Amino acid sequence: MVSNREEWLDFILNSLPDHVFILDQSGRYLDSYGGKYNAVNFNAKSYIGLQLEQVLSASKAAELQSLIDQVIKSRSTLVVRYSIKLQDHLLLSVEDLQHPDMPEESWFEAIINYVGSPEENSHQVMWSVRNVTQTHLLENKLKKLSETDELTNVLNRRAFLLELEQEYETQKQQPERHLVCLMIDIDHFKEINDMVGHLSGDEAIKHVAKICQQQIRSSDHIGRLGGEEFGVVLSNTNAIQAFDVAERIRYSLSTTACKVDGHDIYPTVSIGVAECNQNVDSVKALLINADKAMYYSKRTGRDQVTIYHDNLPDLKIHSATKARILRAS
Ligand code: GH3
Ligand code: MG
Ligand code: MG
Repeated sequence: MVSNREEWLDFILNSLPDHVFILDQSGRYLDSYGGKYNAVNFNAKSYIGLQLEQVLSASKAAELQSLIDQVIKSRSTLVVRYSIKLQDHLLLSVEDLQHPDMPEESWFEAIINYVGSPEENSHQVMWSVRNVTQTHLLENKLKKLSETDELTNVLNRRAFLLELEQEYETQKQQPERHLVCLMIDIDHFKEINDMVGHLSGDEAIKHVAKICQQQIRSSDHIGRLGGEEFGVVLSNTNAIQAFDVAERIRYSLSTTACKVDGHDIYPTVSIGVAECNQNVDSVKALLINADKAMYYSKRTGRDQVTIYHDNLPDLKIHSATKARILRAS
């Protein structure tokens, strides 16, 4: 039992679920409370009297010090999420570092607020922090799921268009950075489905996605726009270079069999290449150009690559009888 109010308050503070540190303006731990909810293999009281750089690597200490500086300067409250890698911890024991439950990188969410100081010309912050590694990993997983096409594991349509939008905005700010969009559609895919069945058809779609992905850089983006149609964004790439990438995709498809259910499928693709230039004033315009070039590849023989240019004939079939689309009056 605690006997007086001070002890009682101390007991309450140390029962707080999150860790609460008091740090001064130089990054020295003055006090530490709580952490009941987080405290696994971690004695926060042992930090008292130490500087940030005695506890964490120089770069991590500098990062956290800059947060203290911000809070003291603005006298405000900061809510931040940051990570600490295993190698950033200077005080963890070898057993802790090698513990199988210890993640390579832990994520923390902190509320840092200015608390002044009882002494003149001294400033302190209260750093209340919670380990949110599990939440962070789950959020990342959900985000990835929401952006990924289930069949092929490439970006889904929405995520692809968002990436394209971002690359487009960057290109408009820095016109010297070329930007190209490829539109890729598998040839005669209905026949492939009819011959090998829908499930094997799915394997062929996955195969094409994989080959495309192998031929682009990790900084490029590929997305499945619809059934057997893909878009690729190549940044810092001009139309000629993009043509080479598209040809590599085409060549790789013609030489790599998709083996499924006793079939060797060699799907071919028609590809349209469109570069972002001063005549292209929106993402939609860029996509339309890539689409036109892709249709040109289709209508003039398939299994080929076409670069869009302003004089390219629009060979898309507009058949009101087939699709029954009536012109709005
Ligand atoms: P083209 O050379 O003109 O592109 O001929 P195509 O037969 O490929 O024609 P189109 O691109 O218009 O048709 C695509 C077909 O792909 C229609 C549909 O039956 C099939 N398809 C769409 N989504 C899927 C899918 O998720 N799995 C499978 N197996 N087939 C799909
Ligand atoms: Mg097709
Ligand atoms: Mg299609």
